[in-house]
Amino acid sequence: MSQFFKKYSLLIWLALLLLIGMLSSGAVNFYAANNVFPQTLAEHSLPLSADAIHAEIQRNIARSVVLASSEVDETFIREWSANDEPDQAALLAHLKSAQQNDHAIAHFFVSEFDHQFYDSQGSVRALDADNVRDSWYFKTRDKNVAFDSTVLPELGVINHPVIFISYRVLAASGRLLGISGLILPLEIYSPTSDRYVNQFKQAIYFVDNSGKIILSDNKHNKHGNIRAQEGMKAIADDILANNQANLTKLITTEQTSAVIHSRYLPELGWYLIIEEPPQGDFSAAQWTLYITAAIGVIVAVLVLWLVGLSIKRHQQHLNVLANYDGMTGLMNRQSFTTTFQKEVLQLRRSKAPLSFILFDIDFLKKINESHGHTTGDRIIMEIARMSLNSVRGSDLLCRWGGEQFALLLKKCELEQAYKIAEQLRLNVQNYSFALGEKTPVTISLGVAEWAEDETADELFARVDEAMYQAKAEGRNRAEVSYYVSA
Ligand code: GH3
Ligand code: MG
Repeated sequence: MSQFFKKYSLLIWLALLLLIGMLSSGAVNFYAANNVFPQTLAEHSLPLSADAIHAEIQRNIARSVVLASSEVDETFIREWSANDEPDQAALLAHLKSAQQNDHAIAHFFVSEFDHQFYDSQGSVRALDADNVRDSWYFKTRDKNVAFDSTVLPELGVINHPVIFISYRVLAASGRLLGISGLILPLEIYSPTSDRYVNQFKQAIYFVDNSGKIILSDNKHNKHGNIRAQEGMKAIADDILANNQANLTKLITTEQTSAVIHSRYLPELGWYLIIEEPPQGDFSAAQWTLYITAAIGVIVAVLVLWLVGLSIKRHQQHLNVLANYDGMTGLMNRQSFTTTFQKEVLQLRRSKAPLSFILFDIDFLKKINESHGHTTGDRIIMEIARMSLNSVRGSDLLCRWGGEQFALLLKKCELEQAYKIAEQLRLNVQNYSFALGEKTPVTISLGVAEWAEDETADELFARVDEAMYQAKAEGRNRAEVSYYVSA
């Protein structure tokens, strides 16, 4: 395992770096796409949504006020009140006939004299100061304004927002006789806000100053109190304490996060809250992440493959440099020895015979001197090529050093090895090196068969001795070494 890590350490480090780079850049992109960008976008877009919704509501209120001002006829009521409110039926009939011409839910009159509420539906009841349906009266009565408006999210069986447009009815003396007015349906949600809800997935709802949600868009159907809601409760106090300025905040819960914009609407006495969940861009960001990751993986695999390929080539090149002789292309002695050890082990197991030949060019020194070193090189190369051509594919030929060569013959007994040595010798002797007749090129060889209880070094020494014997006996000959056990 550690061998594996050693061999591929560069690739492993590179893969790790690429992985870390890819993961961190993917995570940053994903975080930005999911949090930073939507949050920044929402922080800019939500106040604009709020502006548009607020303006729409203001327009609808103004329209109601204009409508009401043209419908209210105070003359009758003033006379009726001035006459000490003699006939309820006459007042109810007046209110009913007034309503027949418009879209009002009701026309009403509240008497300051006995706090009775009369409306065009024919109802007559005492005011209840504790009921929001009636409490507006006491506030409006005390305001010194010609008309006032109050919006309620619903009114009895009417389950949509209504607006009370009320006018103070004064006697000639200036005394307050009561308040007359119209109850009109008020459109809070318009096509504009519906678009925000449906297209941009924004939740739009309204809370009163206690934090209670009094109106919500149908899609999100929010209810309860924002002070009790996960995420919102952290900023509820800020929203509700802040009845002038706008507020934009990011809220997070364990599951999700959202950007909240709140704004106080003085005409309604409510807070408008717009909530933009970041999920809108989540799937797009997820896709971007997947595509980036896929491209990253492909690029990483290609990079690793290319680096692996170039390392492999580099290693092969180093391997050739380290194991092969540059001049002849034969194995060098170091590599030969290593291979030899392996072969010996294998053959020891299979009990197959193994022979070894060592040979040396005769009088190369002289040839160098007379014909030049380049000619000496050429002879070494030609003898290497010639020897390589005459051995079997399974045999191992190496440049033992200088002008010496070694040949390992597998599954070959001494007799056969001697024949091969002789053949090599004759090949060299008969080859024309074109140096002229006075300069023959020959080799001397030592031959031995590996004996079972012999070490590699002992075999090498034995064959070396045989070769020097061949030199001593006149050169251009092969000498055999027989193993004698100690
Ligand atoms: P002997 O028959 O006893 O082997 O005589 P020799 O001259 O070949 O042997 P010696 O050991 O005296 O000298 C070896 C020579 O081989 C000397 C050296 O210059 C030459 N030689 C060794 N390697 C190379 C080589 O790569 N190129 C050339 N041109 N000559 C080499
Ligand atoms: Mg020599």
